[in-house]
Amino acid sequence: MRTNIRNLGILAHVDAGKTTLTERILYATGTTHKRGEVHDGTTVTDFDSQERERGITIFAAAVSCAWDGHRINLIDTPGHVDFSDEVERSLRVLDGAIVVFDAVAGVEPQSESVWRQADRNGVPRIAFVNKMDRVGADLDAAVSSIRERLHPVPLVVHLPIDRENEFTGVVDLLEMRALSWVDGRLVDTPVPDVLQEEAQRRRHMLEEAVAERHPAAMVEFCTDSAISAATLAAALRDLTRSGEGLVVLCGSAYRNRGIEPLLAAVVAYLPSPLDVPPVQGIQDGVTRERPADPAEPFAALVFKVVATTTGRLTYLRVYSGTIRKGATVLDVGATRTERIARILRVHADRQTEVDHATAGDIVAVVGPKMARVGSSLCDAAAPLLLEPPRVADPVVSVA
Ligand code: GDP
Repeated sequence: MRTNIRNLGILAHVDAGKTTLTERILYATGTTHKRGEVHDGTTVTDFDSQERERGITIFAAAVSCAWDGHRINLIDTPGHVDFSDEVERSLRVLDGAIVVFDAVAGVEPQSESVWRQADRNGVPRIAFVNKMDRVGADLDAAVSSIRERLHPVPLVVHLPIDRENEFTGVVDLLEMRALSWVDGRLVDTPVPDVLQEEAQRRRHMLEEAVAERHPAAMVEFCTDSAISAATLAAALRDLTRSGEGLVVLCGSAYRNRGIEPLLAAVVAYLPSPLDVPPVQGIQDGVTRERPADPAEPFAALVFKVVATTTGRLTYLRVYSGTIRKGATVLDVGATRTERIARILRVHADRQTEVDHATAGDIVAVVGPKMARVGSSLCDAAAPLLLEPPRVADPVVSVA
């Protein structure tokens, strides 16, 4: 089901822990069984040796993983400021993002630039305050810097349990449960007595902030003087997707703490391809919308081309229709046809071949020889030149 797809990016200032977090997500979702570490050069999303040497993510890659009945297509977005064009390019094809912050440094210069790029592209996001195990880690200070410098309405759903080296888990303020990680395993227990009062206080703050912005939550808040976990979750989803609120979680990627709640938040709050506006493109000189429907004519955007030992891999975001193995498609801008010889789902350490892919999905294809980043590949009978999603024009008053 396409509602079960999340096309997700991870955005961060360099060094905030994006690579480590990606690793841990792939590990938690069973995509990799070996835990790569950044410093030993085995990180599985690093396809390029230059990248390994420099320890920064230069080239974007898309990796599929599964979580709780959902397919998460993780689109790597380069964090280094020199590559902001690549960031922009990958932002085009994702539907939501995790923004990673350092719990000590808070908002850093590149966090601001990726934030603005995400704003321009209308990307819904949630925040992960990472490195809670570091000396000086402070969730409240990090959240203040996010509020002051990036101006979202932070909706903090975690209360950290202990600090720095002792950081063992979080209180989930929706369910009011303590989630701790013991020997790498998630343990779910009642909130300890010492944290009860603080957890109640923070839950109340969260409820107030949500009620103020969400009518259904407000009704419940006024009637019951509390909001149920289910209503809160639904309201957080709506506020995330509309960009009115920023759900904030915390953890330590390095210590593998906080990954499962983060994945649960991705599934619960970030949109599926059906929840985002239909793609726009130019057909016969006119701007048209094309719904994310498998029955529509095929239209896809190339966002990455990688030369590998097994051939040229062309990464596509399918916006509408269905692409089948063996099909011939039109590269609209170049008015040239390309053959889709194979369709691959790329996992971190292997690829699986599929016979078709439908609207909303991200796959890599083998066959196209000339298609480039930015090419629109379409059904020749209904060519659609895709554009980056339109950002609203500056408000112009109409008399
Ligand atoms: P990226 O540049 O954003 O991809 O960041 P990396 O994942 O490469 O991490 C940068 C450095 O921070 C590495 O030395 C990581 O081991 C370290 N790091 C990442 N996550 C954590 C964390 O949760 N806690 C601590 N203490 N260090 C972390």
